[in-house]
Amino acid sequence: MSTELKVQIAIIGGGIAGLWLLNRLNQAGYDTILLEQDAMGGGQTLASQGIIHGGLKYALNGALSPASSAIAAMPDRWRACLQGEGELDLQGCQVLSRHYYMWSSGSYRSRMKAFLGSKALHGRIDALKPAQYPAFFRDSGSHRVQGTVYQLTDFVVDTPSLLRTLTAPWRDRLFQCRNIQLTSDDDSTRLQLDTGTDTIDLRATRVILCAGEGNEGLLNDWQHPATMMPPLMQRRPLHMVAVRVSHPAPPYVHCIGDSFGMTPRLTLTAHPCKEDDGLHWIWYLGGELAESGMNRSEPEQHAFARRELESLFPWIDFSHSIWSSFFINRAEPRVADRQRPDNAYVEDCGPLMVCWPTKLTLCPDLGDTVVTLLDAQSLIGNDDSLPTLKALNELLPTPGIAPPPWENLR
Ligand SMILES: Cc1cc2nc3c(=O)[nH]c(=O)nc-3n(C[C@H](O)[C@H](O)[C@H](O)COP(=O)(O)OP(=O)(O)OC[C@H]3O[C@@H](n4cnc5c(N)ncnc54)[C@H](O)[C@@H]3O)c2cc1C
Repeated sequence: MSTELKVQIAIIGGGIAGLWLLNRLNQAGYDTILLEQDAMGGGQTLASQGIIHGGLKYALNGALSPASSAIAAMPDRWRACLQGEGELDLQGCQVLSRHYYMWSSGSYRSRMKAFLGSKALHGRIDALKPAQYPAFFRDSGSHRVQGTVYQLTDFVVDTPSLLRTLTAPWRDRLFQCRNIQLTSDDDSTRLQLDTGTDTIDLRATRVILCAGEGNEGLLNDWQHPATMMPPLMQRRPLHMVAVRVSHPAPPYVHCIGDSFGMTPRLTLTAHPCKEDDGLHWIWYLGGELAESGMNRSEPEQHAFARRELESLFPWIDFSHSIWSSFFINRAEPRVADRQRPDNAYVEDCGPLMVCWPTKLTLCPDLGDTVVTLLDAQSLIGNDDSLPTLKALNELLPTPGIAPPPWENLR
């Protein structure tokens, strides 16, 4: 049996990009639904470190690149949302740390890099006096912390509560569905949705691809007029480490190293994790350690991470820590020389739009770009939204929210 339905906008992919747009577009009056193949956030979003960046990483070479200028406005946009005063109401999202820090551990090159970064950021970074250090550094006992600790405008959000906040208002517009087939003509796109027992034939005036790494497969299978040119994707592979540590003060810090690269030696966040014996902090390790870790096996990566942490933080006892790691790709549009894209990426291919936010941080920018593009297209409204929602809710399940990756590691 086949059911034929209509919707104005169908988003594919329930990570941060899809959920941000679902909220922005429905609020802007666009009749929008979201289709997710598994559980929401289970791609890159819940694996992210949750840092809302102000662009420092891009200024480490001393030059204020387009990326550091564009991203600089993002922390304030997010803060307004977290206070219920921005374009989205994110008051339900928990903030794990109101500040993110940068520590140049003392060697000449790392101090130089941090200094250049600070000049380029024009007052968006403050060097702290030891009395102002976050608790994690103040607890160093007899070990005097070498180098300089800076406080950035960046902060850290709890991604599970972010996803709960974004899904709550629109649960009747979220659907789980695998094997979506897309066929476009000049005006609209037909989505064939396989329910297992039934085929739903859904016609959408616009489809917005927010499937992260999954965009590539959807674009490869997309049936479309020859005039529409789908964009290409690139992957940035990472080997992330999660460590259960008993130290009570959670660290949120970039440790700037000696290499000439723009990536910090270590980017550290901490996340609460509920286990049978209570609540624990999981330290989550990214940065250069995760990029170079692609060439290490899991046991090698655990040993490397342990050496890094012991050398950086000699005042902490890691002897009872539990180490785990996993491989994951960042999905981005393919750009020249495999450089990092500067902004949230949106490609308008007629009835289909392709999005890669490239960073959680850049979602406000993504929302602005998509709304501006749609507003310029004067889309015709959909009178049939209630029957479509009713039928889809009868035929398709509502996807749940995935657990963060460190909850499954052992
Ligand atoms: C390890 C790591 C750390 C990061 N840390 C940060 C950070 O601290 N700060 C920051 O700003 N950014 C960070 N990022 C980047 C950020 O996480 C991503 O840019 C962002 O989460 C991408 O969101 P997305 O919604 O585009 O993709 P995803 O989160 O990958 O979501 C895509 C969704 O689409 C679904 N999907 C895939 N294929 C299909 C299909 N065929 N049909 C239906 N659904 C489909 C998937 O199941 C998934 O739920 C990090 C990324 C990684 C990997």
